[in-house]
Amino acid sequence: MKKDMICISCPLGCRISAEWENENEITVTGNKCPRGIVYGREEILSPKRVVTATININSSWISRIPVMTTGTIPKGQIDSLLNKIYRMDLDIPILRDDIIIKNIDNTGIDLIATRSVKT
Ligand code: SF4
Repeated sequence: MKKDMICISCPLGCRISAEWENENEITVTGNKCPRGIVYGREEILSPKRVVTATININSSWISRIPVMTTGTIPKGQIDSLLNKIYRMDLDIPILRDDIIIKNIDNTGIDLIATRSVKT
């Protein structure tokens, strides 16, 4: 099998291809550095993404606060995380980098605020 993709591990965005007969023999081509091989293999075996979203807050001047994960989480866990996020209602003050959800589903990744809201 073959899958073409764009490596998103850095801004260069190399067009890479992964070819495989089985999960133990994945060949990645088109990468300009070794991270592309890691990314290509991971996309086949267990794709992951950084999640960004917004959460309701109880503030007098802004209704939602932007949040993001501190790293990538498996694509299969994103829906569950977004469902949790969109049911949340946070009290202020919230500072940039405050942890909103710690260790999401035991991934070792946190959800953090990406701006501060004090009033
Ligand atoms: S293969 Fe390397 S250089 Fe190319 S986008 Fe991925 S990380 Fe960047």
